[in-house]
Amino acid sequence: MKHFETIVLGGGPAGMMATIASAYYGQETLLIDKNRRLGKKLAGTGGGRCNVTNNGTLDDLIANIPGNGRFLYSVFSQFDNHDIIRFFEEDGVELKVEDHGRVFPKSDKSRTIIEALENKIRSLGASILTQTEIVSVKKKDEVFHLRSADQEWTCQRLIVTTGGKSYPSTGSTGFGHDVARHFKHHITDLEAAESPVLTDFPHKELQGISLDEVILKLGKREIRHDLLFTHFGLSGPAALRMSSFIKGGETIEVDLLPDRSKEELVNLLEQNRDKQAKNFFKTLLPERLALFLLGNLAEFPIKQVPTKDWEHVLNKIKGLQIPVTGKMSLAKSFVTKGGVDLKEINPKTLESKLVPGLHFAGEVMDINAHTGGFNITSALASGWVAGSSISYD
Ligand SMILES: Cc1cc2nc3c(=O)[nH]c(=O)nc-3n(C[C@H](O)[C@H](O)[C@H](O)COP(=O)(O)OP(=O)(O)OC[C@H]3O[C@@H](n4cnc5c(N)ncnc54)[C@H](O)[C@@H]3O)c2cc1C
Repeated sequence: MKHFETIVLGGGPAGMMATIASAYYGQETLLIDKNRRLGKKLAGTGGGRCNVTNNGTLDDLIANIPGNGRFLYSVFSQFDNHDIIRFFEEDGVELKVEDHGRVFPKSDKSRTIIEALENKIRSLGASILTQTEIVSVKKKDEVFHLRSADQEWTCQRLIVTTGGKSYPSTGSTGFGHDVARHFKHHITDLEAAESPVLTDFPHKELQGISLDEVILKLGKREIRHDLLFTHFGLSGPAALRMSSFIKGGETIEVDLLPDRSKEELVNLLEQNRDKQAKNFFKTLLPERLALFLLGNLAEFPIKQVPTKDWEHVLNKIKGLQIPVTGKMSLAKSFVTKGGVDLKEINPKTLESKLVPGLHFAGEVMDINAHTGGFNITSALASGWVAGSSISYD
């Protein structure tokens, strides 16, 4: 049985950063993950390019963490998104900022980020154990005992960074919630967040079309962001954000050209009246979407189409009605809402208020954010704080 001062359980962004901070502050540290490689979920973010953080202001960060972002004020005062950017750049990783403040490695490869974290862990002298699933965690005589099927480790300080319950194939199966429950922590209700939306709509015709900056409307709620049509319905940040207000049975309205008023579009039609309809509309919208909206009007010159038919097309462009049948399950959603109750965690150190030496960081806590780098920021920043909390002792 090998003893460590600190063990970090779970090698996602929270766990890797917690290991780095712990080792940086001189702790003999072990990081354990059950996958063959660290950061399996992180690798899949940003379409495989790793949306490592967001370069917004503190207010932006908090606003984009609808699930208890305010709890992170203390965390961000110690380590925030700009520290994350500095951390990678000082390590020689070149980053770039894309739309909506999303930060990616210049290489466009998740591997760049994961390797940088892993190399840092090793250079600080911490140990990494992969392909090792922990099946039980107990505390006896002030020492934590972690067991896999055939081995046991002990530590003074345990940092649980096992993630939520979404995409369990990446390793996040909710084990950290069981550990927390064992130590009498309360787990708030677990729900799907940032879920792709299921629709009753011609999926085949529109599948793969992505639109920048549309407005999704549902009741009084409006969300302006990018949208993606998929084989099951809608995805992309606009749909993922709207998903928290969806139960199934509603109709979403989409303004496909929010920066052009209907009057402006009518004038444009008049100015281009000699053009073939499809040739004109494909200057405003992706061609496949234009053809879908135009139907059999596509081949006609604009001037030959009766005004009432244009009225119908423009109404669709300014308010496409999409019936919603539901949203993806927790397992197929990007983020888990709910987790270890924050009332039982010290916001400054992320140490359990119930069990000394036990810490939590990342999505295992009751924190959920929008995609766009905000969950990863929360995971990396809280990981740093949990790992460095030893410096308070
Ligand atoms: C497809 C997809 C795209 C996403 N895109 C974005 C995005 O663009 N922006 C954004 O901000 N967020 C995004 N997210 C969410 C983001 O990836 C997560 O919030 C983040 O990875 C959480 O980090 P974490 O370290 O808390 O947990 P995780 O990354 O889930 O890591 C937990 C780790 O713990 C390990 N583990 C669990 N149980 C055990 C055990 N018993 N023994 C050993 N190891 C264990 C797992 O193997 C896993 O590696 C996306 C998520 C998905 C699924």
